[in-house]
Amino acid sequence: MKNKGLRRRYDVFNWNWFDWALPDGVEVRFAKLKTAGLWTLYEDGSQLIEVQEGMPEFATCITLMHEMIHVKGNLRGWEDHTKHGPRFLKERKRLLHAGAFDDWI
Ligand SMILES: [Zn+2]
Repeated sequence: MKNKGLRRRYDVFNWNWFDWALPDGVEVRFAKLKTAGLWTLYEDGSQLIEVQEGMPEFATCITLMHEMIHVKGNLRGWEDHTKHGPRFLKERKRLLHAGAFDDWI
């Protein structure tokens, strides 16, 4: 998968699982990371999602979904949106029950 494919996944997941509510302007790209994924919020409000390059497709997609929860948390103003607090875990559970991970687990 290339950057364009990852971007397309962001849009598809946004449509399928987030009611098209997540911002369109989030930059999404592969990178060499020390973790599977990284979400960065800059001072000007712009956002970047980076996903570790070279992972299998299921890991890429699950990682992207994880970082998209951070985007939603920021959008909704969750107090703990940079961490994996109760709201984060609740959202992850919602996605699981909605079938967002059915293609991979
Ligand atoms: Zn996280």
